[in-house]
Amino acid sequence: MNTAQTNPAVTHSRSVEQLIVGQATSDGAGVKLTRVLTQNLQQRLDPFLMLDAFGSDNPDDYIAGFPDHPHRGFETITYMIAGRMLHRDSAGNEGLLQNGGVQWMTAGKGVIHSEIPQQEEGVMEGFQLWLNLHSSEKMNVPWYRDFQNEALPKLVTAQGVAVTVIAGESHGVKGAVTRDITQALYLDLHMPAGSRFEQLLAADHNAFLYVYRGEVSVAGKVIAPQRMAILTNRGEADGVVIEAGTDARVLLISGRPLKEPIAQYGPFVMNTKEEIYQAMSDFRDGTLGESS
Ligand code: FE
Repeated sequence: MNTAQTNPAVTHSRSVEQLIVGQATSDGAGVKLTRVLTQNLQQRLDPFLMLDAFGSDNPDDYIAGFPDHPHRGFETITYMIAGRMLHRDSAGNEGLLQNGGVQWMTAGKGVIHSEIPQQEEGVMEGFQLWLNLHSSEKMNVPWYRDFQNEALPKLVTAQGVAVTVIAGESHGVKGAVTRDITQALYLDLHMPAGSRFEQLLAADHNAFLYVYRGEVSVAGKVIAPQRMAILTNRGEADGVVIEAGTDARVLLISGRPLKEPIAQYGPFVMNTKEEIYQAMSDFRDGTLGESS
């Protein structure tokens, strides 16, 4: 745990361009979840492709989990707030996701994995973010890391905001993962009522926040719980200032856009239709996810 020494001094905060209510859906073998970042926002929030929020104390909503399924062309970042989920994949990795831990999986040229709950009752809550890969990295060898909560870099600001730096850098603290091309920033903020939090952001990076407890405001606009706020890129803004009206928990996410065509078919995200057909045929042939 670090105490932030420096004030990053955002001189002009971004404002809220749009508030988004997620869509209730189900995925895997019937896991109920809220899709916060949907396909129609992929261009606007490039390089991010999807954000799902799941949270339930009803086992029927999660018990079936996500049996074996493939991915190619992007990265999945799973942040488990409560509950336990066991991951197994075709690259031979196995990991238990639990209690504030993060699993970062770069699918690259292909992974087949399963994510199965390891509990029969109680609360299961977390998030899965999909981060796109540049065309030059989509067919890279898969990469995988598990971070237990204690292993994630953290800091507390002078205002008492507790920050977990999952990716990127905040107040001089480097995240668990850094990415050169997308420069992904992924912060979990626990904000006491009345506190403010400043984060510098490059003007061309796309950024959004998701409030999962309490209520915050940005440039005078209130963001209610379970809302995503897309932040503007316009003007001279050099960051964002978030003010907590109540105790609040917020994910702040940003990244440098890839500005490449996006071709998606379910769990495959490539640049062209032909590459999607190739992924489907490799999956059918059993060559996707083969280690070589
Ligand atoms: Fe998956």
